[in-house]
Amino acid sequence: MKKRLDDYRDVVLDEVVDLIYEQAHKLSDKHVVHVNSTYEGGGVAEMLKSVVPLLNDAGVKTGWRILFGSYGFYKITKEFHNALQGDELTLSAEKKNRYEELNANNSSFMHLDHDYVIIHDPQPLPLIRFVKKKQPWIWRAHIDLSNPNQSLLSYLKKFIVMYDSIIVSRESYMLPYDMHQAVIHPSIDPLTLKNRDMDEDRVSKLLGDFKITQDKPIISQVSRFDRWKDPNGVIRVYDRVRKKIDCSLVLLGSTAFDDPEGEAIYHDVLNQVNEYEDVHVISQANDNLVNAVQRASSVVLQKSVREGFALTVSEALWKETPVVASNVGGIPLQVKDGFNGYLVEPTDYNKCAERVIKLLSDPRKAHKMGVNGRKYVKDNFLVTRHLLDWIKFLGEI
Ligand code: UDP
Repeated sequence: MKKRLDDYRDVVLDEVVDLIYEQAHKLSDKHVVHVNSTYEGGGVAEMLKSVVPLLNDAGVKTGWRILFGSYGFYKITKEFHNALQGDELTLSAEKKNRYEELNANNSSFMHLDHDYVIIHDPQPLPLIRFVKKKQPWIWRAHIDLSNPNQSLLSYLKKFIVMYDSIIVSRESYMLPYDMHQAVIHPSIDPLTLKNRDMDEDRVSKLLGDFKITQDKPIISQVSRFDRWKDPNGVIRVYDRVRKKIDCSLVLLGSTAFDDPEGEAIYHDVLNQVNEYEDVHVISQANDNLVNAVQRASSVVLQKSVREGFALTVSEALWKETPVVASNVGGIPLQVKDGFNGYLVEPTDYNKCAERVIKLLSDPRKAHKMGVNGRKYVKDNFLVTRHLLDWIKFLGEI
């Protein structure tokens, strides 16, 4: 079904929807294109699936193109992603060549002759080098850029400075370059299968299909199997919690086409949970199941070591589930310690377990925090606010 902006009148005030139509009108003669590296898996695709159709419905002609990458190319760009978040990297000439060549090749058939070109993340970043640029190009980086590997950044700089602007998810991710930079916070779509209301019977049925019972509290983490999301840490926390309170753990993680590391990490996680009866490790792209798990959980964890934003946090809060999460990257924008969840240091497993236990043993407090969470997301991280940010940004650049 086509997405319609008017449907969001059921969620946010009419004035908000009216304002989107009104502001979008100013861009009605413009043609915008977004380019990223996957239609499926991960937060960028998740957001584009809502933002792009809704901008069209609002009256801004907006296209979405995907870079045609190969497994080898995505292995390199995942290394770049990791290094931009602070990892070491051996930056060989071969890697640079493959990275640039694939972008050069894509540029020959992408026809990026729109009024604005928006490039997401490092994979398609070099496209700009291989086209005749006539319009504003914007690099939308979703990664935590606060501590990037310097040798990689100095290589990527030659592409980045060709852009007219960079958009990041948090002020501390801005790069020390003398160029236009802006912050746009990500968002979730309250009307997708993943986030819309779901009754308890349907939740139980979906969980039952995966043999997850609700006779004891559930704690969960929904995230790609990626070491930045620290699934091992989640298991360590669960191990501490279950010694005090009988509960089950769900680790749900789909894989993303542009993340070739996921498979190995998934198998490593499976091996680690052999000894537990009540741990469910599921690797499947299933929006209904994400919805059910986030809803049925007493506490949602986001144990990330680094995190550009973590849509999964807002997704859980939207379902009135309190979140215990690492105080890193975009997470503290969403979790306010003691209000809608708790923030902990990523390596403090004891504290994390203690916070989870606290919420499991005080359901009234947990419920209150969950209610606070939904309100906080409604005020700050819904797609309607995101559409207005994009329209404002494009109108001003
Ligand atoms: N996701 C999903 N199924 C899974 C795991 C993750 O649909 O099994 C979704 C999740 O609900 C969220 C997105 O993938 O919408 C992940 O975005 P986030 O910003 O949390 O992390 P990223 O993967 O972009 O680092």
